[in-house]
Amino acid sequence: MTEFLMQTYARQPIAFERGEGAWLFDVNGEKYLDALAGIAVNGLGHGHPRLAKALCEQAGRLIHTSNLYRIPLQEALAERLCQLSGLSRAFFCNSGAEANEAAIKLARLHGHHQGVDNPAIVVMEKSFHGRTMATLSATGNRKVQAGFEPLVSGFVRVPFGSADAVAALASHHKNIVAVLVEPYQGEGGVQIPQLDYLVQLRRICDEQGWLLMLDEVQTGVGRTGKWFAFQHTGMMPDVMTLAKGLGSGVPIGACLARGVAAETFTPGKHGSTFGGGPFACTAALTTLEVMESEGLLAHADQLGAFIRADLAERLRGNPGIVEIRGQGLMIGIELDRPCADLVKIALAEKLLINVTNDNVVRLLPPLVMKQEEAELLTETLARLISAFLG
Ligand SMILES: *Cc1c(COP(=O)(O)O)cnc(C)c1O
Repeated sequence: MTEFLMQTYARQPIAFERGEGAWLFDVNGEKYLDALAGIAVNGLGHGHPRLAKALCEQAGRLIHTSNLYRIPLQEALAERLCQLSGLSRAFFCNSGAEANEAAIKLARLHGHHQGVDNPAIVVMEKSFHGRTMATLSATGNRKVQAGFEPLVSGFVRVPFGSADAVAALASHHKNIVAVLVEPYQGEGGVQIPQLDYLVQLRRICDEQGWLLMLDEVQTGVGRTGKWFAFQHTGMMPDVMTLAKGLGSGVPIGACLARGVAAETFTPGKHGSTFGGGPFACTAALTTLEVMESEGLLAHADQLGAFIRADLAERLRGNPGIVEIRGQGLMIGIELDRPCADLVKIALAEKLLINVTNDNVVRLLPPLVMKQEEAELLTETLARLISAFLG
């Protein structure tokens, strides 16, 4: 019964009891193919033995001590994330919204250090940055904001994908200190900008002295076939936020920075009781280790290319398909009509998918999904979409 829960979600009437790789089993023992991975969280799939073992051992050793003491596992995770990203310091929290809160506070503090009393951050239309007051204010979706006014001020919004629109702000907004952008928009409908978009934003930020802050909460940690989506471009952000895939389901978020942005926070300026605890850091360190030793980045790249090509082949000529797009295992199939009903239709066929931005079927399979499972996914989904489009 959900009667004791605040009604924040319209949940599917189904509950899972256990999982194995890309499969979930409900309380009746029915088996479902998972092409959602807990919304880009379960990169290692379900029930991964190495993760389970590492977490069991760590739970028996130490779960929490607080950030009033050194936490060697947190230091090790920060070092590993910095090696992988080229950034130089990390702050740990417990979710994507919190990671973005850290980035927003960092940008404002940086602004104040520069003598900007009323710092503003450039954000994008159709963006999603979280549900806290600052992050929902940064989010470019009225549905997320409606009813929560007054919003947090200090955000300037432009269309996603247009570097010119960002450049045009420079002449009349003297208080801009940073740009916050998703490399590929997730909740906004798996929107993939032109290849040079981030490179152009980097150039503008360098010219203007603004921080370039990437929200890689969804795109980060192998999802797109690289450790981080910015690594497809050759540019580097000043700040990057992570969460979803980082802890394989154990809550953890991170805000990484380099250069002046890495030196902005000083003791007392930000914090978290739980952030970067030994248990969560074990989850993240093990996730990174397994991703590396199992070659999951290359696998995500190849499997994603296969899924997109195979769906395109199976759905070719169907006028209801607007576009099939994505990078690695972040895939969107845009239809010419609202298609939220496809979630239920797929569920009845024992397939877990998502629909976002009304008309985009979104696939975020676990990075461990096997080729045969991907074939079952494309065959089932193409059949369901064809029937849905009629
Ligand atoms: C999911 C998401 C968030 C919010 O993460 P939470 O952990 O739900 O707070 C922020 N940014 C992006 C890009 C996301 O996909």
